[in-house]
Amino acid sequence: MPETDAYIGLGSNLADPLSQLAGAITRLAALPYTQLVAQSPFYASRPVGPQDQPDFVNGAVLLRTALGPLDLLDALQHIERAHQRERIQRWGPRTLDLDLLLYGNHHIDDDRLTVPHVELANRDFVLQPLLDLTPTLILPDGRPVSELRQSCPDNALRRLDPVPGSLASMGPGD
Ligand code: ATP
Ligand code: CA
Ligand code: CA
Repeated sequence: MPETDAYIGLGSNLADPLSQLAGAITRLAALPYTQLVAQSPFYASRPVGPQDQPDFVNGAVLLRTALGPLDLLDALQHIERAHQRERIQRWGPRTLDLDLLLYGNHHIDDDRLTVPHVELANRDFVLQPLLDLTPTLILPDGRPVSELRQSCPDNALRRLDPVPGSLASMGPGD
């Protein structure tokens, strides 16, 4: 089966965001036909939309997967539900948000799925973790993520200390 590099954005601002993200990464790594290749550092950021909610913790992971994009979206939504994700308010607080940011070089325009993620280029909390994972990353339309990062709005991004035991905290040879 052909394998594709898929970048997943993770976010949480409820119920211990760091452990929500760590738990989600464990589940992503356990998906069928899928390997976890790398995980970015985590960042704290001001919320998009309603401001009367806690700051978010965000990160991204790179998967290599033989799952198709809609099967992958199903898997992401299944993991969100397992983390008691509720959709109450648009861009409101949530225990876990998993977005399919990039799926290889594909453009996808489905009722349920738009790839690259529509807001990707406007969000420093998405672009910075993508750059951490792959500094030379280029979008399917040819734009380098490094250039988008320089021109995107500032969301008061703050890099958090590595979580002990996470892939991101491990050096070579660990
Ligand atoms: P935003 O999309 O601005 O980050 P959000 O993550 O809060 O907002 P959700 O409520 O999590 O939005 O998702 C709404 C719908 O978006 C989902 O039901 C899903 O079908 C659709 N969707 C479209 N493209 C994507 C994508 N690339 N990744 C995840 N969901 C997507
Ligand atoms: Ca989102
Ligand atoms: Ca989402």
